[in-house]
Amino acid sequence: MWIFIALLFGVFMWLNFHRNHHGLRVLMYHKVSTTDIDFMTVTTEQLRGHLTYLRQANYQFVSLSDVLDSLKKDRAVSLPRRAMLVTFDDAYENNLTNALPILQEFAVPVTIFVSTAFVGGMNEWDGSTDSILTSEQLKSLIDKGFTLAYHSHRHLNYKNHPIETIETDLVSNVEEAGRLELPMAQAISYPYGGRPKSPVMRQQMIEAMERLGIKAGFRIGNRINKIPIRDSYDLNRIDVRGTDSFAVFKRKVNWGKLI
Ligand SMILES: [Zn+2]
Repeated sequence: MWIFIALLFGVFMWLNFHRNHHGLRVLMYHKVSTTDIDFMTVTTEQLRGHLTYLRQANYQFVSLSDVLDSLKKDRAVSLPRRAMLVTFDDAYENNLTNALPILQEFAVPVTIFVSTAFVGGMNEWDGSTDSILTSEQLKSLIDKGFTLAYHSHRHLNYKNHPIETIETDLVSNVEEAGRLELPMAQAISYPYGGRPKSPVMRQQMIEAMERLGIKAGFRIGNRINKIPIRDSYDLNRIDVRGTDSFAVFKRKVNWGKLI
């Protein structure tokens, strides 16, 4: 009996330590709807609930530039203990129409990762069901405190392509952003969280990003990033799904992936 209680206490202490550990949490959202829910879509009500909870739980919203500054060699800038970065992938028009008012209300510094081939078009890689923001709309978001960053040019899963294709796509991502005059932060989120499996190819991909000035890469993984950050090209994000209950959202945010 006593052993059981001691064990339970140990688990509780471990969970508590894990929860309060100095870490960077990065949330990954996609679409925001007023009515619909699916694994890539949260409702405005869910988004409001998430942000209300994060505030109450004393998470400290940081911007992507705060994260990039903390990666600098001198580490003059360090992140708060419970740092929280909010990101949206793909640049859906519904981020502007549905999410923006709520994000502004909570003064959240948001990053949108953009696949430049589809700016002003549709999500062609996923059935062309949703509109993607135009370059003018993206620029208007910058005036409202948003940060833009890379999400590959053609929304490629870098896990499934040869290094030459990845390098060409990265270059196109940077060049097209320049042509559209979109000011981009020096970070990328890998579509589908995909990176090459082989260490050699992975290194080649990182070198290609370094040549382009890209200093950080975000995957999925659902883990909390320890601070100081060791591998800036392998930053974990927490996958926020509309189909998750609020309890699941809280568990993912507080504890990440435990095992
Ligand atoms: Zn994507």
